Amino acid sequence: MALIHYSTCPVCSSTSVKEFQVIPDYSVSKEIFSVWKCESCSFQFTQDIPDQESIGTYYQSADYISHNDTKKGIINTLYHWVRKYTLRSKSRLIVEVSGRKSGHLLDIGAGTGAFLHTMKHAGWQVTGLEPDAGARSIARDKYQLQLLEPDSLFRLESGRFDVISMWHVLEHVHALQEYVKTIVQLLKQDGRLIVAVPNYTSGDATYYQNFWAAYDVPRHLYHFSPASMRRLMELPGLQIEKTIPMWFDSFYVSMLSENYKNGKPNHVNAFLQGWKSNQKAMRDKEKASSLIYVMRKT
Ligand SMILES: [Zn+2]
Repeated sequence: MALIHYSTCPVCSSTSVKEFQVIPDYSVSKEIFSVWKCESCSFQFTQDIPDQESIGTYYQSADYISHNDTKKGIINTLYHWVRKYTLRSKSRLIVEVSGRKSGHLLDIGAGTGAFLHTMKHAGWQVTGLEPDAGARSIARDKYQLQLLEPDSLFRLESGRFDVISMWHVLEHVHALQEYVKTIVQLLKQDGRLIVAVPNYTSGDATYYQNFWAAYDVPRHLYHFSPASMRRLMELPGLQIEKTIPMWFDSFYVSMLSENYKNGKPNHVNAFLQGWKSNQKAMRDKEKASSLIYVMRKT
């Protein structure tokens, strides 16, 4: 297996990078990974990551629920209930930030296609990319959506999209800078990019530290703070127009984190920590467990 070692920060190229903490892959391989931090821009990244050809094995788990549709256990049940609510919120958000009732939407990491299906019904022209062949086939059978393989990104027409969305996807992509640059080219001049990622400066992250489930190494290659997101998007010519907290993520992530910390669920403390994290985010939204960044060209 080929590993990628960073000697400079993948966001700002600073050489002031060093090991910040050591975190196991709790959900799949149980291997130990090292998370490094940039002292210059505050970006964190998983060090010595498996390259694009070899990372696939770390996704092979029935527990990796973003790609399956089973309804077992309380976490899955809540996840599916929340997803329904979230779909409606996402749909409203697209209309609101684009100022359009219809247009061209590209969703990167479309999963089984539920979000694109919702948007298609709302009158949008949709294009979706998804690396997992199983998820693509569910999207085809369930929603008649022909999702494309991720490499298609580099063959799409420039300046075509009113909105490009990446819901918990940017933390998974190799060649970060190149990827963002390509996305900016695909956006119309007045288009919007929507990026949702976990926020390691959140209350739940601070509480759970290396048990925080949203570190999710090595699948999460990057761990963003709002400051490092700003820095990443500056160079290719994007500015953050607004940030929106994802209120359910604190509960979901806390439930998983309790499992990792104690080897068993503790829904009471998970709820408490999720609630506390949200209280903090109500005073300062950039402390939310996960953030949606809405960006436009500068
Ligand atoms: Zn940096």
